[in-house]
Amino acid sequence: MTTTSNAGPRLIGRRGIVAIGAAAGLAALTPARPKAATLTHKIALEEHFSTPELEKRGLVARPTRNDTLFADIERRLLDFDELRLAAMDKAGIDMSVLSVTTPGIQGEKDAATAVRLAKHANDALAGVVQKRPQRYGGFAALPLQDPAAAADELQRAITQLGFKGALINGQTNGHYLDDDRFLPVWERVQALDVPVYLHPGELPAEPAMFAGRPQLNGPVWAWTADTGGHALRLVFGGTFQRFPRLKIILGHMGETLPALLWRLDSRYQLQVGESLAEAQRPSTILRRNFFITTSGVCDHGPLANAILQMGADRVLFSVDYPYEDSQVAAEFIDGAPLSDEVRAGICHGNAKRLLRL
Ligand code: MN
Repeated sequence: MTTTSNAGPRLIGRRGIVAIGAAAGLAALTPARPKAATLTHKIALEEHFSTPELEKRGLVARPTRNDTLFADIERRLLDFDELRLAAMDKAGIDMSVLSVTTPGIQGEKDAATAVRLAKHANDALAGVVQKRPQRYGGFAALPLQDPAAAADELQRAITQLGFKGALINGQTNGHYLDDDRFLPVWERVQALDVPVYLHPGELPAEPAMFAGRPQLNGPVWAWTADTGGHALRLVFGGTFQRFPRLKIILGHMGETLPALLWRLDSRYQLQVGESLAEAQRPSTILRRNFFITTSGVCDHGPLANAILQMGADRVLFSVDYPYEDSQVAAEFIDGAPLSDEVRAGICHGNAKRLLRL
């Protein structure tokens, strides 16, 4: 494979590096800038919903022991007309691109049921979007239990329902997305030229690593390890050699991967025993085929690192509603020590380009 100059990350330039570097240093030393007088316009990409049927089938994860907190989450997942819009308005979020919460369709064992549930959820979401096209967009749920049906459902969601891409909640029946069975899905994703949001899902089994330590399960750590690993399976499994134009979105500030680019290259080259051409390095693929969102990480250090490692045009604002507080996320990005140009890109400009809004 050869690289072309526009395939790599858009480098931010020496002045940009200095500005962000200074900002990263500042973040460690000084408080963030005072609360902005006006909110930056925002588009958010990791914003979840459920349906009564998905709830009834137990396809909605429970990330808390607290019944009151979970009841509030469930209420917000099913709401599109009141609580959600109020939270968006307060945070300056013009548009939320909605997706079925985890594990959603990926948690269903039976293929035919999954196909039916995905269509139903996508149709329900299409109704919500049609009612308020200025405020809501859609990411399709895909019944990957049946890869051919998943490819067709993606096509239907994009071409008929007007969705912007798909969101996949981790593995499906023990299969990760680098599996050859999913080649027809990736082929369709690339042909349709839409992004796929790779979101945490349930682990296929409980690894010994988490045995007896339930605190590490779920979003505290297991989901990060599993989703970062899932992304790396695609990187090392040759998916991007076969489909070089795929665009994958990772939430949670990149599931720790932006901090590891140098080490991934270094240890992989040691493993193969020779230095690799730039195009074959994991860091090149991660910078070329991946975008990351700020969902669930309201912390200036990781933000500065993500911008430096991935490029400012690869980082997009998101909340992870209703599991995170929209106002906390908004205050974080509005108060981050960034130039107005970089902040506008992260808050809405990059999303407009990626989703063609
Ligand atoms: Mn989420």
